[in-house]
Amino acid sequence: MLEPEWGRGMGKAVVVGGGIGGLAAAIGLRRIGWDVTVFERLPGELDDAGSGISLAANGVRALDALGAGAALRAAGCFQRTVSTRSPRGAWLARMDGTELERVAGTPIVGIARYELHRILRELLPGQVVRAEVTGVDGTRVVTTDGDHEADVIVAADGVNSLLRKHFFPAHPGAVYSGSTVVRAITAEPLSSSDFNLTWGRGVEFGHIALTDGHAEWHAVLTAPAGVRYPDPLAEMHRRFGTWHEPIPALLDATRPEDVLHHDVYELVTPLPSYVSGRVAFLGDAAHAMQPNLGQGACQALEDAVVLANSLATNDIDPALTHYDRVRRPRSQAIARAARQAGRMGQQVTNPVVIAARSAAFRVTPPKLFARSLLRHTRWLPPDLAQP
Ligand SMILES: Cc1cc2nc3c(=O)[nH]c(=O)nc-3n(C[C@H](O)[C@H](O)[C@H](O)COP(=O)(O)OP(=O)(O)OC[C@H]3O[C@@H](n4cnc5c(N)ncnc54)[C@H](O)[C@@H]3O)c2cc1C
Repeated sequence: MLEPEWGRGMGKAVVVGGGIGGLAAAIGLRRIGWDVTVFERLPGELDDAGSGISLAANGVRALDALGAGAALRAAGCFQRTVSTRSPRGAWLARMDGTELERVAGTPIVGIARYELHRILRELLPGQVVRAEVTGVDGTRVVTTDGDHEADVIVAADGVNSLLRKHFFPAHPGAVYSGSTVVRAITAEPLSSSDFNLTWGRGVEFGHIALTDGHAEWHAVLTAPAGVRYPDPLAEMHRRFGTWHEPIPALLDATRPEDVLHHDVYELVTPLPSYVSGRVAFLGDAAHAMQPNLGQGACQALEDAVVLANSLATNDIDPALTHYDRVRRPRSQAIARAARQAGRMGQQVTNPVVIAARSAAFRVTPPKLFARSLLRHTRWLPPDLAQP
């Protein structure tokens, strides 16, 4: 692990995109003494703010390194009861989150995205500008707020990244994963386990407990791209209303206006590099993946910490080379594993395969589940402590 040599190569960064990845990158760069501006095109809350997220040990450790761990723990809900069920409620797997936490040394935390965004933005007082980036020319970023020169540009502009199209014009871009997600945070508190996934034929219904008894639920459906329902909540009641509790209760506790619907896109063709000149790609812009392992944001947070550590310990060009070398293999391997997890999980439609999977789950010892859950989360952050 590299030891930061504070002040080395200190410079100015422009971060394109104020999602979890962009905000985390900006916090990391500020911690090593860089001057940072984040440009976020949306004026208010982000598109997915009204949903929840689960942060595994690696994501929580990255937030610890960024100085956001205490606020995360205060605003989030520790996942102590973790399970997988069939639509009728049969238990396929049950895990003790406290034991997972003991082994990992860090809890798994569920949190509303608007809370996570708030925690990250509070560490960037005055650094987030609400303006759209419309182009890049060398190290000059063109925005609706004027042009800005930077030593390093961080491309954190998400799955449909403008900067990726600009710097990697031959890359085919993001493709539809075959799954669409309907999700919401309940308006009323209710009693639920901390984290559960229920698999049906080509569908998954999951929920994540949040603080004060509220919960996020998400239905992942195999469907053509662009499918939309006139009344998404009514459609969820129709599909899941007879599934085991608390699924009907979660839907009953939801207001129609709180329901979000997004199609899931991913980078099937891996990006050949996370760096082009002085531009570093990070988060979904670099490695948008299917959500089946709950690792997309965790990987963005890892990216942010490694990028800041690299720039604190090297001159800019070697730092970016180091960032690419460290981050690309790991995040791309996790993206492949996430695609594979979907093929074995939500996307399975054949009833014979579903029955065989359920039988295999029932005889698998919890220790093996725990090992597979912890497989991608053992990552330890490099040092970003402030001098
Ligand atoms: C259904 C679902 C569930 C998920 N669950 C989990 C989970 O439990 N755990 C987990 O770790 N991950 C999860 N993920 C993945 C995670 O949500 C993403 O990987 C993560 O949010 C990516 O963050 P980002 O900052 O890279 O991109 P984004 O969140 O997409 O942010 C990009 C930002 O850039 C802005 N932007 C774009 N273009 C411009 C421009 N030209 N100028 C200015 N701003 C611009 C956008 O407005 C946006 O705010 C899930 C994903 C989905 C779809």
